[in-house]
Amino acid sequence: MKSLSLGGVCVDFTCAICCKDTKMMLSLNDIEKIEKLGYKKDDFCFLDEDGFFKLRNINVNCFFLEENKCQIYTDRPQGCKFYPIVFDLDLNKTSLDDDCPLIHTISEKTLQSFTKDLKKFVKSLLREKAND
Ligand code: SF4
Repeated sequence: MKSLSLGGVCVDFTCAICCKDTKMMLSLNDIEKIEKLGYKKDDFCFLDEDGFFKLRNINVNCFFLEENKCQIYTDRPQGCKFYPIVFDLDLNKTSLDDDCPLIHTISEKTLQSFTKDLKKFVKSLLREKAND
């Protein structure tokens, strides 16, 4: 699947606004990939009340954020690779997360080009949901 590269602060991995108080959902594939790096599932993720696996925060930082850098950047979860493009389930469309300071650099064309992959990813998360 696609990943988004925004350049500037994001590529230097020093912005990290999106890695604080994260609510990023994880697919089973994300979890398996991260476990293969040697991390324990219970350390980096939890099952929320709606049945989705999510990244765990330590204080306000994502478990993997150290000195404002992602420790697993190359292998970061798929949702992190799409960010700041997100999928609004209620509206059934892709949108940009206002928290990201770089959304002005993303064109409507780029946003639309991610729709298919993002929709597919969200559908797979819904299928994997634990409490159905
Ligand atoms: S996994 Fe990495 S990119 Fe994703 S929220 Fe955590 S620190 Fe940020």
